[in-house]
This record gives sequence, C-alpha cells and structure tokens, in this order.
Amino acid sequence: MQLKLEAFTVENIPLIKNGDDLAGIICDNTEIQDNDIVVIASTVVSKSEGRTFTLDNITPSRRALEIAYKNGEDPRFTQAVLDRSRECLVGSPILLVETFNGHVCIKAGIDDSNVENGLLLELPADPDASAKQIAGEIWKLTSKRVSVVITDTNGRAFKIGQTGVAIGVSHIVPIKDWCGEEDLFGKVLEITEEGVADEIAGTANLLMGEGDGGNPVVIIRGLVMYVDTDVTIKDTYRSGGEDIIRKGLRSL
Ligand code: GDP
Ligand code: MN
Ligand code: MN
Repeated sequence: MQLKLEAFTVENIPLIKNGDDLAGIICDNTEIQDNDIVVIASTVVSKSEGRTFTLDNITPSRRALEIAYKNGEDPRFTQAVLDRSRECLVGSPILLVETFNGHVCIKAGIDDSNVENGLLLELPADPDASAKQIAGEIWKLTSKRVSVVITDTNGRAFKIGQTGVAIGVSHIVPIKDWCGEEDLFGKVLEITEEGVADEIAGTANLLMGEGDGGNPVVIIRGLVMYVDTDVTIKDTYRSGGEDIIRKGLRSL
C-alpha cells in the first residue's frame, strides 16, 4: 500500500505578541480537519505567553561568572540560563542543561533570534500544557480533533546539523512502541521504539526554517495519531539513572 502525508504552512501569521490567541489565528488562516497534527514553533508559543525578558537587573553568581568567562558570554545571560535549569550537564565550551521540564538542550533554549532587538525569549513554562490548551481551543472553535506538537530547533550529540524536536505534545503518543511487531522475516522486534513526535517536529521544521520565513505553524495531514488520553513529552526523556551519556558527562 502506498503511504503518503501532506505538510503545509499556515499562511498570514502575524508577528506574535503577548496575549495573542494562537489557536484563533491558526483557525482563521487554515481549514482544520480531524486528525490534523498542528505543529507550532515554541518561539511563537513563548511570545504569546509573554516569555520575553532582558538581562537588566540580573546579578550573576560566582558560578555564572566562571562559566561565562570560559564561554565568552555575558555572565547575566549565563545566570539566566542557570536560573532556568534543574541541572547543568556541561558548563563549557557549551552550556548544556536540563530544564525544569526535563528537556536537555543548549542554554535552556533561551533565544534571541526572531525576537525584537534587546529582548530574549525563554521556552514555554510547561509546553505540554500549552499544547493541550491550544488543542482544546481548536476543538472549541472548529469541533475538530487535532494533535498538537510544540517544537524547538536543537543540536544533536554526535551529529552536525540542528533539527526540529518536540518539546510539548497533546493528543499524540510521542513514542511508538514496535515491541512485539514482526519484521519482514517474522522475527519479533524486542526493543525498537520510534520517536514519532520528534520525527513530526523535524518534518515540520523543514518548512518552518530558522530565519525570516515567518512560518511558525505547519499542519501535517495524512497520519492518524490522535488519542484522547493524557500524554506527555516527558515520556521521551531518559531518566538520569538509565542515561549512560549523562553518566559519562557527570564523570568528566
Ligand atoms: P524555534 O525553532 O521555535 O526557536 O523558532 P525559530 O526562531 O526557528 O522560528 C521558526 C519559524 O517561525 C521561522 O519561519 C520564523 O520566521 C517564524 N517566526 C518566529 N516568530 C514569528 C512570529 O512572531 N510570527 C511569524 N509569522 N513567524 C514567526
Ligand atoms: Mn528556539
Ligand atoms: Mn527553529
């Protein structure tokens, strides 16, 4: 059977401001269908949630000063990252942290790209909750059942090239478990889990781009992944104890 999916951007999204109704803007500019996967760049979710800030009035700690000195960064910026981190995995030459949501990324995902000069943008406080809220509002506006994936662009260990990754989900199970399924030769798969939310994020990110495209929302159509249960992106994060990479970093 031939398989096929569609991915397209939602046109005419304005520059997003604090308090903007993202679900309303999306529904005004595209015809939503049941089972659509609505993929939204965290940048615009954060903007709509008012998560911009400046470095004014931040006093760096001694630790922030040390890390900042090695990285050639503004120590107030380093402090802003540490304030948003549960654990600092690497201080320099890259500032790799685990956020309070369990997402491991550079600089806690704080970004100044696609934000007004002088302002910084931090990740949504609870991206799963943001995704759930947007899916609920789309349901209220259209009576369509959609999945929502919130993305950010992240680097990857071992590979050059950043990709879109999922940092929040609603109405989609972020991992597909292939255990128990058979391969082409009847062998039963034992440990294969597929990170479908990240694959969707990567696909959407191809259309979003990273620059001035103005395409923060992509609809993926043709996959039926909608579920009505509670889901969380946290199911994709390895727990500290079973993460050998993290153990390795701690022993550096
Ligand atoms: P991130 O991956 O979540 O950090 O977001 P990016 O900064 O890479 O932006 C992803 C896409 O959204 C790019 O096409 C940007 O041009 C676009 N974008 C970012 N902010 C806005 C906005 O406020 N309005 C619109 N229309 N597009 C935006
Ligand atoms: Mn980002
Ligand atoms: Mn991006």
